Amino acid sequence: VQSRPPAEIGAPLEAIETPALVVELDALERNMVRMARFASAAGVRLRPHAKTHKCPAIALKQIAHGAVGQCVQTVGEAEALVKGGVTDVLVTNEVVGTGKLRRLAALASEASVGLCFDHPDQVDAASQAARDAGVTLRALVEIDVGMERCGVQPGAAARDLAQRIAEAPNLAFEGLQAYHGSAQHFESHSAREQAIDRAVAAVSRTLEAFQAAGLPCETVGGAGTGTFQFEARSGVYNEIQVGSYIFMDTEYARLEDGEGKRFRTFEHSLFVLSSVLSVPAADRAIVDAGWKSYSGERGYPWVHGSDGIEVVGVSDEHGKLRLGADTPRLRLGGKVALIPGHCDPTVNLHDWFIGLRNGRVEELWPITARGASR
Ligand SMILES: *Cc1c(COP(=O)(O)O)cnc(C)c1O
Repeated sequence: VQSRPPAEIGAPLEAIETPALVVELDALERNMVRMARFASAAGVRLRPHAKTHKCPAIALKQIAHGAVGQCVQTVGEAEALVKGGVTDVLVTNEVVGTGKLRRLAALASEASVGLCFDHPDQVDAASQAARDAGVTLRALVEIDVGMERCGVQPGAAARDLAQRIAEAPNLAFEGLQAYHGSAQHFESHSAREQAIDRAVAAVSRTLEAFQAAGLPCETVGGAGTGTFQFEARSGVYNEIQVGSYIFMDTEYARLEDGEGKRFRTFEHSLFVLSSVLSVPAADRAIVDAGWKSYSGERGYPWVHGSDGIEVVGVSDEHGKLRLGADTPRLRLGGKVALIPGHCDPTVNLHDWFIGLRNGRVEELWPITARGASR
């Protein structure tokens, strides 16, 4: 059930009911164009991750900017995107359980659908579900390239699983999923680069094993916003799965780039818009957005465009701001834009994106995969 949108098209920013999730459309579009140009110049396919935005309207915009399709993390996200008009989705995850595999196979009659594997039992189960539905699912072997989450070991173990997939009815072996998630947030540029160098070596070793076994590998996918330039120039990855670059968050803004400066390749385009609810003291203001409006596992949000104001406390429905000595006292009802610590789980707390341009509401996009964790 979607709640009523917090604004109407054409309304000025001041009329938006808060807390609300706001996207600056100019910045969003510049981020999309920047990444699309990078991928095309590097000669890699761009398959952005929809777990970031959970929204078919944004997915279709990315595809209009040259993306080949979308990544998702759950079957529910895949369903929401296909319902919204996306025709190519890859679940960058293992899918376990007959019910979920049946749902995924049902989608494959409307769209091209892929998923990842790291266990032979799962190959048999997916093959059966695809056969029952009369469809073919694209299948990638996920290898662990250093993250120690899902994935088989690179080399012989990956080859054996790929062979099993190649022999399984109604599965089409497509290639390798080789995402290094933990490397995305290593603060130092060289630490990220070294982690991806090791991932590339693991991928190369696996590709040699595939070749020796006569297994063609069409896709090697991976990369996120923190490392995509390394995968893209590796010569082995050919599909990048970047997600957060469209929005940016404080976690990514803290990274160091190659020159020892803060990572500013992409602009902040996502904000939780709040309103001043109380001004109890000269150096303190309270806004109406707390932990129910943005995720907290990466710390307090930053206040956008206002150096003298800092978030110093958060509770469920309140954010406490400390004002600098020179900061003018905030007025009741005044709007404060907060930059979330982590964009993906923040988006998951909202029903609508409000697209703003020049201070006016231009788009209202329902976040239809919000809460689609199954
Ligand atoms: C989250 C994720 C991404 C995207 O990462 P960002 O850091 O948001 O760019 C890519 N691939 C997989 C498998 C992921 O889980």
